Amino acid sequence: MSAPSCLRCLVRPSAGVTVSSLPRSSPLAVARAAPFSTTTANLRPKKEVQTGGAPKGHVRSGKMLQLGKFKKGKAGDRGRTPAPGERKAYRKRITLSNDNAIPVPWLTDLGPADLANPANTARIMALPTEVQDQLRASEAFKPTQCWGMFRKPAVLVRKETIDMANRMQNAADKRHTLRLVVSGDKLTGKSLMVLQAMAHAHLNNWVVIHIPEVQELTTACTEYAPIPNTDPVQYMQPVYVLKLLQAIRRANEGVLSKILTVSAHPELSQSMPPNTPLLALAGAAKEPDAAWPVFQALWSELTAQGANRPPILLSADGLAHMMKVSDYRSPAFDLIHSHDLALVRLFADALGGGLRLPSGGAVIAATTRSNAPRTPSMELALAQREAEANKGLGGPSSSGAVEVPQRDPFFRGYDDRVEAVLRSVQVLRVRGVDKLEARALMEYWAASGMLRATVDEKAVTEKWALSGGGVPGEMERAALLTARI
Ligand code: ATP
Ligand code: MG
Repeated sequence: MSAPSCLRCLVRPSAGVTVSSLPRSSPLAVARAAPFSTTTANLRPKKEVQTGGAPKGHVRSGKMLQLGKFKKGKAGDRGRTPAPGERKAYRKRITLSNDNAIPVPWLTDLGPADLANPANTARIMALPTEVQDQLRASEAFKPTQCWGMFRKPAVLVRKETIDMANRMQNAADKRHTLRLVVSGDKLTGKSLMVLQAMAHAHLNNWVVIHIPEVQELTTACTEYAPIPNTDPVQYMQPVYVLKLLQAIRRANEGVLSKILTVSAHPELSQSMPPNTPLLALAGAAKEPDAAWPVFQALWSELTAQGANRPPILLSADGLAHMMKVSDYRSPAFDLIHSHDLALVRLFADALGGGLRLPSGGAVIAATTRSNAPRTPSMELALAQREAEANKGLGGPSSSGAVEVPQRDPFFRGYDDRVEAVLRSVQVLRVRGVDKLEARALMEYWAASGMLRATVDEKAVTEKWALSGGGVPGEMERAALLTARI
């Protein structure tokens, strides 16, 4: 038998030692004779006193450890456990309307030219119902944004929005491709800029292909498989591509139903004679196995030379996840670079200018600050492009004094492939809104009944200053947080 090591066991009398055999004055005898004070003794339930011999083994009185605490039936019915995926669906649910919010009478719907019209700067405009459905299909709304507080989704038209929409329109008119990275601090509205670009594209009958979260492609959370006959090996992500095809189909139904195929696609299992609507082609994949060939066929049709195709918008949110080595592994257990994943490579090629869109359009990617891996090459490349634009090498304003940042010679973590992609992109830096735009936002919140305060110069200046110079997400926190549902 092992020697006792706890205090109670050490002071417990060994076999044969009874309380009566101890000297009366002994503290142990006193304690054993009257273990509780009179008050506590009445409150505690009486325990069975073990008599006749020493207690067996190591006994600790007091609080008992109960291993079967949560036994079925004991704690009552705990209700239905959520089905697989139910929690995620709840976390990602998007509510676009709040029936308790007051309808704002002066709110007008966005038209095809509204986002490019400088007269609309600092105006709040609503998204038409059809565009809402298209944006929802492409997952452009995010659960972190405040859509669920207002009667209908509306956006602030900012100076940057007008600038971006004009760049998009110019590119489409000249059949060029706008290659733009939207960058900026946390909660400044980068994802909202992409949403506005998508709204502009839908309103002007472009084809929109949107990757809502690039991290879903590169963090090894969706299936992948090598594409045969590719050197170096590329990987397809069939399940994700099938989901993307369905989203493309739903978001661009009207446009795709009017475009007809120009070539038969013998590589597909279904027969696709020429002059089939692209909508049928996009819906040809019913299983993940067929998704990548169908996506390739759809892409080749959308970018067919000589055919009269609408402009294309390729957009993505969370660019940093695309500009790094992915979490996938090759059969040799080497990490796979994100640009070796076929869908990511297509986007990166289009962003880098290697892949032209014959009928023009735009490739727009937004960085994110809330959930982004460290990508020194991307940060450096974006800083360089911005500095060049400011210096007058590639941009409108020239101050001459700006230094273009260079690589740190003592740091080895740079990625040449990333820098090659970002060598000639345009960078749109989104900052906080100005006071006029802040006022428009606050007036809209007050008119919707979500902000219970008088919107005057003082209130606007206060919220503008509190939010780090008009950062829209911070303004929402400062003004609407208490009302958040
Ligand atoms: P992150 O760095 O976390 O990705 P972000 O820059 O993408 O942030 P958004 O999600 O686009 O930020 O916007 C933050 C909040 O600001 C959102 O709740 C959004 O509703 C609000 N907001 C930003 N821009 C606008 C706008 N133009 N009109 C209305 N609300 C806006
Ligand atoms: Mg974002």
